[in-house]
Amino acid sequence: MIMKKRRISILGSTGSIGRQALDIVARHPDRFEVAALSAHSRSDELFEQIRAFRPKAAGLSGDRAEIPADLRGLDWYFGKDCLERIASEVDCDDVLVSVVGIAGLDSVISARKAGKRVLLANKEALVAGGQLVMDLCPQDNEDPVLIPVDSEHSAIYQCLLANKGNPFTKIILTASGGPFRTWTLDKIQDAGINEALNHPNWSMGQKITIDSASMFNKALEMIEARWLFHAKPEQIEVIIHPQSIIHSLVEFVDGVQLAQLGVPDMRAPIAFAMAYPDRISTGSDPLRLDQTGILSFEAPDLTRFPALRLSMEAMKQGGAAPCVLNAANEVAVDLFLKERIRFGDINRIVEESLNRKGHLRADSLSAVHEADAIARETALSLVGV
Ligand code: NDP
Ligand code: MG
Repeated sequence: MIMKKRRISILGSTGSIGRQALDIVARHPDRFEVAALSAHSRSDELFEQIRAFRPKAAGLSGDRAEIPADLRGLDWYFGKDCLERIASEVDCDDVLVSVVGIAGLDSVISARKAGKRVLLANKEALVAGGQLVMDLCPQDNEDPVLIPVDSEHSAIYQCLLANKGNPFTKIILTASGGPFRTWTLDKIQDAGINEALNHPNWSMGQKITIDSASMFNKALEMIEARWLFHAKPEQIEVIIHPQSIIHSLVEFVDGVQLAQLGVPDMRAPIAFAMAYPDRISTGSDPLRLDQTGILSFEAPDLTRFPALRLSMEAMKQGGAAPCVLNAANEVAVDLFLKERIRFGDINRIVEESLNRKGHLRADSLSAVHEADAIARETALSLVGV
C-alpha cells in the first residue's frame, strides 16, 4: 500500500528539537515531506536544511539575510509575524512548533485556527497562553489536534492512550534534578554558566538547559501538563529521578501507576508525535534495563529549588500569573547568560515579578502579550536594566 506522506512545517528547524525532527524525516522519506522550515538567526544552517529537504516555503524570523540565488524560488517569509503566517498559509498537515520562548504562542494559535495539527515542543506557549490554546483544541476530535513533544508530556499522553479513557487521579512528572541536584543552596546561588549548562542526561538548547538547572523547566512543565491534560494543580506532582529513564507516570483511582520508559533521546517523543498513531524507528538505542542498573527516586527540595513552589502558586492564582512567571524567567535566563546576574537571582526575579504583576489578566491574546511585556519590564527593573 502506498502511504500518503504527512507534510510537516518545522518552526525553529535550526534548534535542538528542529534538527532532531529533520533527522526523523531523513530516516523516513517515505512517510514525511517537509512543507516549510524556519530559523531565527542561523540563516546559513537554514539554507543547508532547505537544500537537503526541499520545502516549498521558508522563514527567517530574526534579521533579514541575503537569500542565495539557488533558493530564491521558495515562498519566503520574513520578520516578526513570519511564524504565524507560515503556520496558517503554508499547506501542510502538521506544524511542529520548536522555537524557544513566548515566540511560539502566536504560531500555535494560528496553526490551530487554520485547522492544522500542532506537534508542540514549545512549552512556553502553553504556560503563557494555555487557556487560549486549549480553547482551540477540542478534546472530542477523532484525530488529535495537539500532540505533546516534551518527553514527560509525551510519556503521560502515551500512558493515557493505553488506559482507554479512564480518568487519572494524579500526574507525576519526573525530573532529573539537573546539574545542581546535590549542591547546597549557597553553592547554587553562585553557580557559573558552564556549570549550569552541564546537564547530566540531555543535550538541549541553552535556555531549556539553564531552566533544567534552576528547575524552572519542571515548573513550566507542571503548567504545561495542567493545560494539556485538563488537570487540577493539586493533581500534579514532581519526583526526582536522576537517571531520566522513566519519563513520567500517571496514577489511577485504583492506586496503580502507569509509566513510560526509554533512554533519554528526544527523537523518541518527536517521532511519536510525527508518526502518530504509528511507532517508527528513531535511531535511538533500545532501553536495556540490565545495563541501566538502579533507578532511584527522591522528593524535590523546594528550599533549594523554589521554582516548583512558584509554579504551584502561579497555577493556583491563574490569570496571567503563569505568563508572568514565564516572562520573568525568560528575562532572568537571558541576563544570567549575559553574566549580568547571579544564578540565584533567577528565583528572586521571578518571585518578585509574580508578587508585583501576578494579578494581571490573560483572557485574550492581546492581554497575554500585554502581561508578558509588563512582566519583562518589571523583571528588568528589578536588576536596574
Ligand atoms: P534551541 O535554542 O536549540 O532552538 C530554538 C529554535 O528557535 C532555533 O531554531 C532558533 O533559531 C529559534 N528561535 C530562537 N529565538 C527565536 C525567536 N525569538 N523567534 C523565532 N524563533 C526563534 O531550543 P530547543 O530546540 O532546545 O527548544 C525548543 C523548544 O522546545 C523550547 O520551548 C524547549 O523548552 C522545548 N523543548 C526542548 C527539548 C530539547 O531537548 N531541546 C526538550 C523538551 C522541550 P536560530 O537557531 O536560527 O537562532
Ligand atoms: Mg521535558
